[in-house]
Amino acid sequence: MPASDAKPKPPGRKSRDLRRRTVFRLVLLTVLGTLVGWYVSALVTFAGNTYGFNNRFTEVALVDHWLYLIGANLEVIKAYAIVACIYVTMIYPLVLLWHRWRPFGRWGVVWRTLLFSSVLYGFFIFRLMLDKPYFGDFSYLDEGYRKFGQWFGGALQHGLRGFVLYVFPVAALGVCGWFYFAEVRRAMRRNWHVFPWPVLGPMAVLVLLVVTGHGFVRETPPAEVEPGKPKPKPKNILIIASDSFRADRLACNGYPRATSPNIDRIAGEGINFRQCYTPIASTLESLTTMFSSQYPHTHGIQHMFPNKEQVARANAKMPALAATLKQHGYDTAVIGDWCACGFKELPMGFEDITVSDFDNFKVYMSEVVYLHHQILPLFFDNRVGHWLFPKLKSFANFMTPDVVTGQVVDRLRQREDDQKPFIIFAFYSCTHLPYRTPREYAELWSDPAYKGPHKNMLALNVDEFIGNVDIGKKWERLPKEEVEQIDALYDGCVRMFDDCVGRVMQSLDESGLRDNTIVLVTGDHGDDLFEPNVTFGHGLTFNGGDQNNNVPCVMRVPGVENRGRQVDSIVRTLDFAPTMLDLLGIPPEPRFEGTSFAPYIRGETAVPRAWYGETSYLFFRRKIPGEEPLYIPAMDETTTIDPEFDFHFVLKDKYQEAVLETKERCVRTERFKLVYTPGKRGPIFRLFDLTADAHCERDVKALYPTVFERMRNALVKWRDDHKESTIPDIFGDEDEFRIKPLR
Ligand SMILES: [Zn+2]
Repeated sequence: MPASDAKPKPPGRKSRDLRRRTVFRLVLLTVLGTLVGWYVSALVTFAGNTYGFNNRFTEVALVDHWLYLIGANLEVIKAYAIVACIYVTMIYPLVLLWHRWRPFGRWGVVWRTLLFSSVLYGFFIFRLMLDKPYFGDFSYLDEGYRKFGQWFGGALQHGLRGFVLYVFPVAALGVCGWFYFAEVRRAMRRNWHVFPWPVLGPMAVLVLLVVTGHGFVRETPPAEVEPGKPKPKPKNILIIASDSFRADRLACNGYPRATSPNIDRIAGEGINFRQCYTPIASTLESLTTMFSSQYPHTHGIQHMFPNKEQVARANAKMPALAATLKQHGYDTAVIGDWCACGFKELPMGFEDITVSDFDNFKVYMSEVVYLHHQILPLFFDNRVGHWLFPKLKSFANFMTPDVVTGQVVDRLRQREDDQKPFIIFAFYSCTHLPYRTPREYAELWSDPAYKGPHKNMLALNVDEFIGNVDIGKKWERLPKEEVEQIDALYDGCVRMFDDCVGRVMQSLDESGLRDNTIVLVTGDHGDDLFEPNVTFGHGLTFNGGDQNNNVPCVMRVPGVENRGRQVDSIVRTLDFAPTMLDLLGIPPEPRFEGTSFAPYIRGETAVPRAWYGETSYLFFRRKIPGEEPLYIPAMDETTTIDPEFDFHFVLKDKYQEAVLETKERCVRTERFKLVYTPGKRGPIFRLFDLTADAHCERDVKALYPTVFERMRNALVKWRDDHKESTIPDIFGDEDEFRIKPLR
């Protein structure tokens, strides 16, 4: 039949007149196609090892654990399925209504579906970026949002935020809700009163939950604690600490920025120990000392990669504050994020441990797998996500400061209800590298015009850290504006932690527990921030001053009058456990090596203590001008993953000795600090006069030979015989501040 005989049709007529079923099918196929594309691209990227697996552990993961990796990748399909349902449910009515308004063809359905998919994804990510920026690297979006503010002003930026977060979801849900409502009504038109109208109530509540962010992306914030009846005895202990928390960055310790209004308030109501030191500036070792009151060389956890036997020995032998309190009927709990993961293996007497399981290779592998899937962030911080992916709770990205605070507040509420005495240790990662915080904190003190690599956090490449001991070239001569930027980010971290402290204290103070709870705000250690002869990190050296070991120690002790008192005598985290027992009237454990500093709190005199310290695992080579300090190979050589020890990183046996041999040791009195460094050509001793040289740059042992001799004896006695000398033991009746240099 000749073509000219065919009946002419209006152009595109057929393709524009789509049936509802066709629209639905096309939307469904497009959504599925997009998600399959995402999934495949995640697998391809993962196979290319471009994220986090770029090191020697990649090999271990791929060779030894390939089945586990495949399983983890299959597991995330659940997330895709849920997103597919949500997308299809929401996009189908939007496309169909659009089609009714202005008809279009099949390709029109496809691109509109893609458009709505992107908008929905963008919405969830935008909300996540503003709310919980720890969940991923949102710098691309962040920068756009910032530019928008710069170009159009803060008011419009705020308007955009409001539109995306509230107007958009309300409108989208409104349209979809109305559509489905109309559909149901249409189906029941002949018999409309059959429609279950009461169902609309719960549905409206559900919509409200999603729109206000309580249903899908956000956790419910903890409710206010109701005031209750005070309980007279025994006293509770609440320790709130942050990782890598420097004492000198608190306003109440003289820092010029307002980094710590809430901690300052506690200091004003209580007592502030400005010279508090940890014997070792590394998390696990330091916390073990804090809760066992034993030096690292006694409890045996001397670096951050202990093996199964070392951990078992410490668990079996060390005394523990929490265990003693347990015997007195206390509820003992640790709540913390990834920095607190060590408590999983070393509970230090605590019974209830709620922390992220960061230091576990399986969790690490899961996290790497999950983070490859762009869809997973949508499940990170909501109940649906926790239920679908229980492992998320163990991820470093999951246990955020907000989550920790919420759990601490919940715990306080439980104790108020059951009136059981408690010790709670709340441990946050707020001030830990890479100093990443929500925008409001990051921008508090940083230069808005800064354009360098450390815009949102210290741009540290993990591989650089674990695969290379020689980072000096890149980091040592960091320009001044970069250091200032990193400093500002760190100060923002301090402020974020301070806000967490504020929330916990508010809940405590509004409860009936206020007058019966001893509060201590502290840190496990400090941090290097580009002081002379150091770069970043902690526990590597005593160069640069006291910034690694001087931690905050701000206490509020009910029943003792010491409002706003400051103490400049040396106290140690080693002394926390005996001090707490002293304050509670419980005799100290005989195996404790620390001494109670409660006399200072009660306004009595005490024998002045010296601080003894050792460095931890040496990630980078130390720098001492004119000397050659010993060093060890990079971490990816010295450590291995032990499947027998729950896939933890452990130090290889052949490096055990070397790690101990590279340790620096020091003793510090109120004026002097003596540092011992193992060198290639023998021991290096340096004596510093801190009143004149806070950054420890000038060795004065030649000027103070007697001081040097006495302090060296004290250091050797502590290291070799495990016996510490007090300041009067070292200087006798002499006042160290009156000692004159030779010449
Ligand atoms: Zn730490």
